[in-house]
Amino acid sequence: MSHLLEVNHLKINFKTYGGEVKAVRDVSFHVDKGEVLAIVGESGSGKSVTVQSIMGLIPTPPGIIKGGSIRFQGKELLRRPKKELRKVKGSKIGMIFQDPMTSLNPTMRVGKQIEEGLIIHQRLSKSEAKKRAIEMIKLVGIPNPEERYNQYPHEFSGGMRQRAMIAIALACNPELLIADEPTTALDVTIQAQVLELMKQIQEETKTSIILITHDLGVVAETAQRVIVMYGGMMVESGTVFDIFENPKHPYTWGLLNSIPNIDEEEKKQLEPIDGSPPDLFAPPKGCPFAPRCKYAMEVCLEEMPSEYEIDGGHVAKCWLNDPRAPKEEELVALGR
Ligand code: SF4
Ligand code: MG
Repeated sequence: MSHLLEVNHLKINFKTYGGEVKAVRDVSFHVDKGEVLAIVGESGSGKSVTVQSIMGLIPTPPGIIKGGSIRFQGKELLRRPKKELRKVKGSKIGMIFQDPMTSLNPTMRVGKQIEEGLIIHQRLSKSEAKKRAIEMIKLVGIPNPEERYNQYPHEFSGGMRQRAMIAIALACNPELLIADEPTTALDVTIQAQVLELMKQIQEETKTSIILITHDLGVVAETAQRVIVMYGGMMVESGTVFDIFENPKHPYTWGLLNSIPNIDEEEKKQLEPIDGSPPDLFAPPKGCPFAPRCKYAMEVCLEEMPSEYEIDGGHVAKCWLNDPRAPKEEELVALGR
């Protein structure tokens, strides 16, 4: 069976006065129907640029699609005419952004913003669209939907605005929902509520989701598979179990060490990963994580690590997985 979304060897640069930034460097992944794929990594790792390219949101210029393909339901999305892309985007792929205030139209009533896609893409009549918009407001858990339908975004709280974004994104029953750090701008209790809502809707509608987050706790709760990105590259990918129980990349180890473990009696010291992300104007020729990696070997500085398949679908781009590399016990001695 073919995948719902298939990204292959995607490469994206940005032209700047200082030179070309290599924002996405040969990224490949897929999303199947009904699954939640999480993309994790620190800011600047290429997560947002990757998903924005799926939505055709990379301005060219300054963006340059250097290569690769993005196939959705078997059809290529890259280099498609804008008009056609808008059709796919609006009806089959929905997107939720980090900050609803910048993506909602402040001058338009919330109800009308939910209706827009329904009228354009689903060709609903005005009264049908209104009915559906009110249903959607209710579905995302906003009280008094009829009243809220007529209000403007500034009359909503932050959490409600994010719910309204979810309503807009889901109104046309998309096959794929892309959520780029959907809860980062919200306070912790509201974050949990919005995530719970997304999970619940996902279970009911079986919409596939790409969830970008830097919060591994959220990943464990919501996703089935995970991609770990670093310096514009995918450094590890696998199931949630692979990533949490058998991680095979030092950067993933670092991310896991930086989440609080509430099960452990003595509070584990959180370990931020020292150092800064690689310079994407002139990425190192070897492993991009080498300058921050405690286990870096000579080869790491010289050569880009190969992709090692750990077992079915679990892949790590790190020389430590080479049969010639030091074994796990030796790493433990080094403080792993
Ligand atoms: Fe560290 Fe080398 Fe693995 Fe890169 S390839 S993460 S530098 S051990
Ligand atoms: Mg981002």
